[in-house]
Amino acid sequence: MKNPEKKIRAYALKNAVHYGGKARTGSVISALFNEGLKRSEVKKYSKKVNEIVAEVNKLSSEEQIREFRKLEKLISIRKGRKGLPELPGAKKGKVIMRFAPSASGPLHIGHALTASLSFLFVRKYGGKFYVRIEDTNPENIYPKAYGMIKRESRWLFPGKFMKILIQSDRMKIYYDCAEKLLKKGAAYVCTCSQEEFKEFVEKMKNCPCRSISIRENLERWKKMLNKNGFQEGEAVLRFKSGMKDKNPAMRDFPLARINLTKHPKQGNKYRVWPLMNLAVAADDIDLKMTHIIRAKDHRDNAERQKKIYIALGLKTKVPWTAFLGRIKFKDLELSTTKMKKKIEEGKYSGWDDLKLPTLASLKKQGYKPSAFWKFAEQIGFSETDKVIDKEEFFKLLNSFNKN
Ligand SMILES: [Zn+2]
Repeated sequence: MKNPEKKIRAYALKNAVHYGGKARTGSVISALFNEGLKRSEVKKYSKKVNEIVAEVNKLSSEEQIREFRKLEKLISIRKGRKGLPELPGAKKGKVIMRFAPSASGPLHIGHALTASLSFLFVRKYGGKFYVRIEDTNPENIYPKAYGMIKRESRWLFPGKFMKILIQSDRMKIYYDCAEKLLKKGAAYVCTCSQEEFKEFVEKMKNCPCRSISIRENLERWKKMLNKNGFQEGEAVLRFKSGMKDKNPAMRDFPLARINLTKHPKQGNKYRVWPLMNLAVAADDIDLKMTHIIRAKDHRDNAERQKKIYIALGLKTKVPWTAFLGRIKFKDLELSTTKMKKKIEEGKYSGWDDLKLPTLASLKKQGYKPSAFWKFAEQIGFSETDKVIDKEEFFKLLNSFNKN
């Protein structure tokens, strides 16, 4: 990295300008990877970054903006950057990434833009790309989504390195992971009511279930799995993250619950369902995920999943993670529920109606997968939220489609 101090300052200012005047060391370090910072050098620079971030955070926002304007040119991400950014720590043939759509609806442009980047990295470096359909909440599944997600994924992500998995076919992995956590004393079965637990969270107090023995916890876990044992709402598996965490959402978060709703794919085969953080962490561990690109909204979840890795003694295996800003499409309806309603009312002819922003529709309209790839490439690792209106979006997509 040439001119490190100035570059660190430029990125610290950029980060501060974008996030209400407060830059964060972690974000500045991730940004420096664009400047060729190597993982092995992070230690060397982190003290300097800390110092500079502290200095920058003392400036007023006017001062930050003024100074950033001067140093902006040192930052190498420009508009219209060509090609893929570098993926930090990527080893040839060994990059494993995933895209995890929910089985609640079909794929649309939002999915295409967030998932394509991961697909392109795996295509570039070699490795595996998993499309992992999330369907462990039996109450939030649209049965037709399985077929549509599979069909559109094969279209958008061609290549033998792409594999489609369905979470509800992998329940043993989640149960095993839960049991490992219980045996390590990192999880417990809580039988407090929701209201009671909410109060413990607010008061930062441990619930009585937290101190029961590992053996008793394993007994309780069995009672969750047994149809003659606990009933719906009577017991929850929780992770022991700490009841004093300064972020209330982090305090002993739930890992699994009993839900007797009939699952569209698995029927009544299971009564205990993993919640997102358990299923995702167990899968990422099992599939040996190396890098994850996910929406910024999942920052807390990423933190929870990291805690699960650490509890299992897998601290060194925590995947490298980048967060993408939210892309809000003005005047485009992306809500499955609303689209579904209008299809049922006959306002749209089906999921591939030409007026819908689903991939089924765009495929039918003649768009090529590479148009979405180019779009994603252009956005890169941006954490900034964007608002794109329909016209602007299609103008860009059309220009990528022509090339
Ligand atoms: Zn409890």
